[in-house]
Amino acid sequence: KKAPKPKPEWMKMVIPGGDKYAAIKSKLRELKLNTVCEEAKCPNIGECWMGGETGTATATIMILGDTCTRGCRFCAVKTSRAPPPPDPEEPKKVAEAIVAWGLDYVVLTSVDRDDMSDQGSNHFAETVRQLKSRKPSMLVEALVPDFQGDSKCVERVATSGLDVFAHNIETVEELQASVRDRRANFTQSIHVLQMAKEMAPPGTLTKTSIMLGCGETPVQVVETMRKVREAGVDVMTLGQYMRPTKRHMPVSEYITPEAFEEYRKIGLEMGFRYVASGPMVRSSYKAGEFFIKSMIE
Ligand code: SF4
Ligand code: SF4
Repeated sequence: KKAPKPKPEWMKMVIPGGDKYAAIKSKLRELKLNTVCEEAKCPNIGECWMGGETGTATATIMILGDTCTRGCRFCAVKTSRAPPPPDPEEPKKVAEAIVAWGLDYVVLTSVDRDDMSDQGSNHFAETVRQLKSRKPSMLVEALVPDFQGDSKCVERVATSGLDVFAHNIETVEELQASVRDRRANFTQSIHVLQMAKEMAPPGTLTKTSIMLGCGETPVQVVETMRKVREAGVDVMTLGQYMRPTKRHMPVSEYITPEAFEEYRKIGLEMGFRYVASGPMVRSSYKAGEFFIKSMIE
């Protein structure tokens, strides 16, 4: 039996702390708002929540419950074929809490809801509308499931008034079947991104992410980036896969910060609006700061 690979120095996480962080946390409990940032113990909370150089605070919120109808090999979210129905009041409640928090850029994401006839797309669209009607200046990204490739669901979200339509392809084309749930695939995900770009009002960005360290080769990474770009996708992020528990897919390797930087440069040459690429990068990493900077440039 092979011993798990030791984590390199650059993967050692700094757990966020300090008075400012504690104050935000207690405010969030008051607002009854749960963030993916906290639940996933994300090491980027300091950078994202404080907003960085542009002061654009970013956080990720999960809607549509905590139970997924799918089971991907890298994911720690609990699964069930029949999760409880979502709270119809959630779009309003979540929007109120996010606006009260004072975020500048919010990423709304969800589990997959293959059990619902609209696959949760109305819930997404309604949450975006509730947010925008309360605070039009807020930047909203929806990080959505593939909706089984259903164009009606994609259109509903793409025309809801959001700023960024995101859907993650998760890994290179060649590894789709071994990494993602069998109901997901590359062609379908690329098609979803393509449809979103066509259906959304001009100026709306599309975005996708992949994890490295799943067994892919550098050539496969670049080829996948090229296909993503050809589908009109504006933004791409690349990060290191981290195994949530021993029951999940092992890490094949830890990609060096230098290699991540190389992919970032290649992506910019391909014409992506921006590329976030690094060991600690998550699809929502400093999304607000990058969005604002890419607008100024
Ligand atoms: Fe996790 Fe998303 Fe896969 Fe569900 S569809 S198991 S939430 S990665
Ligand atoms: Fe939250 Fe995403 Fe930033 Fe992590 S990278 S702190 S999950 S917004």
